[in-house]
Amino acid sequence: MPAARCARTELAPGGWVTGRCWLGCEREDLPVQWVGPVEVGIERADLYGCADCLARLRARVLEEAGRR
Ligand SMILES: [Zn+2]
Repeated sequence: MPAARCARTELAPGGWVTGRCWLGCEREDLPVQWVGPVEVGIERADLYGCADCLARLRARVLEEAGRR
């Protein structure tokens, strides 16, 4: 079974898995949380982010939401 599928089945909503952060810090083998699916053209992957990057992302989302 591919590792990616394995990670997906272990994933609990809001749960943390060990992996790579996709949100800019480029660190690997640290606790990351599933953010959502990301699509680039026809390819689709799961996006994960570490606590630091998720905090930054959350602040950005709230900032954008406040502008509407
Ligand atoms: Zn990060």
